[in-house]
Amino acid sequence: MQFLFALRSRGVTDERVLHAMEGVDRARFLRGLFASRAYDDVPLPISCGQTISQPSIVGLMTQALEVEPRHKVLEVGTGSGYQAAILSKLARRVYTVDRFRTLVSQAQTVFDALGIANITAMTGDGSHGLPEQAPFDRILLTAAAEDPPGPLLAQLRVGGIMVLPVGQSDTIQNLIRVRRTETGLDYDELSTVRFVPLIEGLGED
Ligand code: SAM
Repeated sequence: MQFLFALRSRGVTDERVLHAMEGVDRARFLRGLFASRAYDDVPLPISCGQTISQPSIVGLMTQALEVEPRHKVLEVGTGSGYQAAILSKLARRVYTVDRFRTLVSQAQTVFDALGIANITAMTGDGSHGLPEQAPFDRILLTAAAEDPPGPLLAQLRVGGIMVLPVGQSDTIQNLIRVRRTETGLDYDELSTVRFVPLIEGLGED
């Protein structure tokens, strides 16, 4: 209850998103002592030197994505799998990609334990997207690109929405939303954020 209140007070007001977040225990995606801090509104360390995002940012990004039950969604940056699990409550199918094999395997273990069957988690460089599964109704990046990656824009369906942080890795970045229309792309800036960078190629772990 306190968790939902904290989310609301930070601007997460979409009832479907709040309901989805209420249904996913963030502690399941954390290890050791960090699990006891699962309901603090802070990013926390996960394996491979990466982080699970702050719940309010997860909520705001999910809300901005305007996911509908028939949608096919691509997430770039599986990390712990927490964001993908929330998306799985809102969408028909979620594809999630991370450059670290270890993270994908750990996330898959949690999805299996929670009985989540509509997520396909894969190791790969998500900046190329998943051409074989395109087009996507929604695309979410949870790592910051300097600009929206061209291959991902190309894999967004007409009427589709992509939400991503853009900017240099060690500065404040902008969370932006891109809508593909019949005639081109519309951009709007949502807030400032701070994410790890989108890195090309596979990780070593
Ligand atoms: N969404 C995650 C969660 O719910 O825990 C948090 C993601 S973390 C902030 C960013 C992730 O992006 C890291 O796990 C990192 O390995 C991944 N990443 C960075 N560059 C990538 C790329 N080119 N392709 C796929 N994943 C990438």
